[in-house]
Formats: sequence, structure tokens, C-alpha cells
Amino acid sequence: MIFRNLLFRCECKRPPARVREIGLNDQHELVVRWWCVACKRHVYAVKSLSDCWRDCPGGPSSGQDRSEAKAVFASDAQFLHSLGIRLPEEGDS
Ligand SMILES: [Zn+2]
Repeated sequence: MIFRNLLFRCECKRPPARVREIGLNDQHELVVRWWCVACKRHVYAVKSLSDCWRDCPGGPSSGQDRSEAKAVFASDAQFLHSLGIRLPEEGDS
């Protein structure tokens, strides 16, 4: 399984030593809560689920994965052409 770590930081720039809670709020956002030892307070980080979706490996913002997929598609198309097969995307002309 491929996954990407989400990086959260307090206003003091310190990353959480240990995340206390992870949840969802009524705005459909991911909420992460931890105790900042430097600021001595609870810190909440909020991230929208659409941002989470974009940040997923292979998500819409993952240009590298997309270009790899295109390259695979192109080589598949080339192979099918060599067999005399036309793809539906190419039309009838
Ligand atoms: Zn802090």
C-alpha cells in the first residue's frame, strides 16, 4: 500500500510529538488534535477532505503518476495498432 504522511505543525513550527485524536467535523474536514509541549496547549489542525483527496498518492495533483499512465496507454495503443486494432477514441475516419 502506498501512502503519504500528512505533515501538521503548531503555530510555533513544532510538529506533534504524538497525535492525540483524529476525527471529522461538521464541515466535512479532517481534524487532528495534539498537545504542543512548547506552547503547552492543545492544537487543532484542520484539513478539508477535498485537500486530502488531492494529496493522495495517485490523486488529481499527482502529475507524475498521470504521465506514467499516459505512457503506458501510448505503448498499449502502439501495440494494438501493430495488430491492426483501432481504439474507440480514434474515431472512424
Ligand atoms: Zn506550539
